[in-house]
Amino acid sequence: MKMERRQFLKGMALGAAGIGFVSDALASPPEVAPLPMAPAVNTTSDPELELALLRTRHFNEHLPGDAYLDPTQFRILESTVRRLERLQQVVGYGNFYLLDFDEALKVAAEKPRVGLFTRAELDFMEMIFHETATTYGFMGKKPLKNLTERTPRQEIVKVPFTGNFLFKGQAVEVYRRIRRDVGDQAVLTSGVRSVPKQFLLFLTKAYEASGNLSLASRSLAPPGYSFHGVGDFDVGQVGFGEANFTARFVESDVFRRLRECGYVQMRYPQDNLLGVRFEPWHIKVVA
Ligand SMILES: [Zn+2]
Repeated sequence: MKMERRQFLKGMALGAAGIGFVSDALASPPEVAPLPMAPAVNTTSDPELELALLRTRHFNEHLPGDAYLDPTQFRILESTVRRLERLQQVVGYGNFYLLDFDEALKVAAEKPRVGLFTRAELDFMEMIFHETATTYGFMGKKPLKNLTERTPRQEIVKVPFTGNFLFKGQAVEVYRRIRRDVGDQAVLTSGVRSVPKQFLLFLTKAYEASGNLSLASRSLAPPGYSFHGVGDFDVGQVGFGEANFTARFVESDVFRRLRECGYVQMRYPQDNLLGVRFEPWHIKVVA
């Protein structure tokens, strides 16, 4: 894999580490806090930090030091993305959120329209899953350790009218409180995601970015690294469309209310040092 090691980023993910979703903070509405930012830093004194901030602020651009797949890997990436897309069409968008890796292989084998994953595609997915994402600049934790991790159906619920699922317990409870405190304008935009779903999202982004894994990982956690696999979810404002997944979301009434009600304890705050864009819509449930 043609990758530039970026060791200098190691150990820098400190700023955001202490900012967590604290469930008992919801018991009594906290005072409105300023937007969660990483601690102020003098960016001129530390070129490495400056580069880290450049990455989160210009997340969707090709930047110096980004890691790319080589041309052979890029062709395998493309065929993998196409197969996962066909798989999603065959099982249905909603079901694909829950489909684990072994089930994906089974459906691919049974449905000629999908077709068997090739050895090269399987090796490629194993490599992407097991490659340490810090290699290409993603500094977040990895809550799912196994490629074949499954979402137990008895532990999740479908959320009516959203096409999405949430984990029972804390995630459902937090969503219920958000709807109560913020109102019906707040809606679940993305909940539980299986490993194959996260593969499709991450690899599609990498494909659109000409095989730039660093660029892809600044917008989408690599498979295994997404907290959507263990309880986190995204909320948006009804009618806000694609803007729900852009920095413009902070201008919405829903975000203002989320902030007033104390839900804006984000996993990926502004200027985080995890190599991830600012995601004000992402609700951190799991510590
Ligand atoms: Zn999210």
